[in-house]
Amino acid sequence: MADCIFCDIIRGKLPCKKVYEDEEAIAFYDITPQAPVHFLVIPKQHIPNIMEADQSILGSLLFKAQRLASELGCAEKGARFVINCKAHGGQTVDHLHVHVLGGRALGWPPG
Ligand code: AMP
Ligand code: ZN
Repeated sequence: MADCIFCDIIRGKLPCKKVYEDEEAIAFYDITPQAPVHFLVIPKQHIPNIMEADQSILGSLLFKAQRLASELGCAEKGARFVINCKAHGGQTVDHLHVHVLGGRALGWPPG
């Protein structure tokens, strides 16, 4: 998809600090980390947001997020798995992504 920075990352047109890649997904560190561990897991297919995703891709992305969180040391103390959606969800990049935040205790509720 043109004019999508995450599609540009997938195509290698924009750099990223890659955590993981396979045929359907890529994970990379967030450019503005909000926790000691903060990475994003995204589908290679341009899906704008969670409302347009199917059961298969959602299950797959969340499972990959869980495995990577574990590999990056978040299994014992936990982490937060976040999918922002559209304006009310605070989504700023319109390409589906799962945030994984770990390495510190996070507050709740969100503002
Ligand atoms: P959201 O607000 O849920 O749409 O999250 C978008 C996230 O993408 C934010 O946390 C940004 O810091 C992050 N982000 C934006 N551009 C880049 C980039 N080029 N590389 C890595 N993360 C990015
Ligand atoms: Zn995209």
